[in-house]
Amino acid sequence: MKLTSWGRYPVCESTVNRPRSDAALAGLLHTQPPSSSIARGMGRSYGDSALAEHVYSTTALDQFIAFDEERGLLRCAAGVTLETLLHAMMPRGWFLPVVPGTWHVSIGGAIASDVHGKNHHLDGSFGQHVESLRLMLASGDIVHCSAQENTELFHATCAGMGLTGIIVDATLHLRRNNSSTVMQRTLRAHNLDEIFALFDSHHNSHYSVAWLDCLARGNSLGRSLLYLGEHANDNICRTPAKRSISIPFSSPAFLLNRYSMSLFNSLYYHKPVKELVEQRIEAKQYFFPLDSIGHWNRLYGKRGFMQYQCVIPDASAQPAMREILTRISTSGKGSFLSVLKKLGPANRNLLSFPLEGYTLALDFKFEPSTLALLDELDSIVLAHGGRLYLAKDARMSQEVFRRSYPHWEDMARIRAETGADRLFNSLQSRRLGL
Ligand SMILES: Cc1cc2nc3c(=O)[nH]c(=O)nc-3n(C[C@H](O)[C@H](O)[C@H](O)COP(=O)(O)OP(=O)(O)OC[C@H]3O[C@@H](n4cnc5c(N)ncnc54)[C@H](O)[C@@H]3O)c2cc1C
Repeated sequence: MKLTSWGRYPVCESTVNRPRSDAALAGLLHTQPPSSSIARGMGRSYGDSALAEHVYSTTALDQFIAFDEERGLLRCAAGVTLETLLHAMMPRGWFLPVVPGTWHVSIGGAIASDVHGKNHHLDGSFGQHVESLRLMLASGDIVHCSAQENTELFHATCAGMGLTGIIVDATLHLRRNNSSTVMQRTLRAHNLDEIFALFDSHHNSHYSVAWLDCLARGNSLGRSLLYLGEHANDNICRTPAKRSISIPFSSPAFLLNRYSMSLFNSLYYHKPVKELVEQRIEAKQYFFPLDSIGHWNRLYGKRGFMQYQCVIPDASAQPAMREILTRISTSGKGSFLSVLKKLGPANRNLLSFPLEGYTLALDFKFEPSTLALLDELDSIVLAHGGRLYLAKDARMSQEVFRRSYPHWEDMARIRAETGADRLFNSLQSRRLGL
């Protein structure tokens, strides 16, 4: 079948296997050992990290295994989604310490990308809250990994993009949280200097994220809305609501041009907001706003789109973001919405994306001329000591990857030692020379 991930680019002709148990998965690895196969969760990565000629989907490995309510430790299979987990745990007063911008991701995918949320500056990334995991190696054997046991393999697997093996289940730390709502405050920043100053002065806010008008220019470059959030404290823990509307088919790509994007960005920035006034909103609306529109990726047309997400270390984050945004706004290409977040210190996971600094994420409709623009942005990112997020990538060069992920050689060594390099090779890993 033709398979894509969330960006719908690239397309890969794949055989998809959906084992229902660890034993069935091991059987597949034994009887059918193709050199180009990879684990796949919900396919919510944007590019080619979950694409290969043979794909092992974990969607049928979706059981809860055990819950230690005393310690808040939940053990579940890798195919359980954040949506399923939060539906089960929020009414009981528990929440995940880290969630990305969609809940349609699997636990295996969240670990393999070491996803970050709107609280990375305080709480780090997903892998930092994994107590342990069980990994199926290329041999079909299962090894138990944690920060204390098979430590090197653990840090290669968290953020490892499926390249060490298949995570079959994991034990996660949950957090007590006695509300299903979030107290949100919205602040308007008229330009880039203001938004950086606001992030700084609200460093202690548990959650923060800015939606930025990437097509604004001159004195308005970087104008944005900053959303701060804290869990409410009201002892009302409801089951989160399901999605409401869906985009039924791909939009004609010509509808997305510099004028429609500029108009959308401008209307969004100027929307009426009650600045500084606390508003109570559903946690789902705060953490996963795009999930209320099903298949919104179809808005970018049949050829798909690419997300460009970079991080720049603190020391030069502001000038680098200025360069990047200036280059994008002059090109006239850009996103409906762009997201700026503050990140905290890096962790020990070999291919983990976050660095202490700021991350910017933007969507670009796929067209050949976009590739040249993104290559230019890569040069700016590298010049400032930054890097790109593998979970969003579909086109980074091997050179850019190697210069920005200093532990890539350790990853390649561990892959060779465990035999993973003979079996687990995604389109992305082959492009990046891993
Ligand atoms: C709307 C939207 C918002 C997002 N917001 C954020 C965000 O705020 N922060 C963030 O960090 N990310 C974000 N993402 C990216 C997303 O969280 C990651 O790409 C995540 O990995 C997707 O999980 P998945 O189950 O869909 O994995 P897939 O896309 O299926 O796979 C992603 C990678 O994980 C590997 N993998 C999957 N399952 C396993 C397994 N069981 N064992 C080993 N490897 C496995 C795959 O091989 C692949 O390399 C967002 C994505 C979308 C669509």
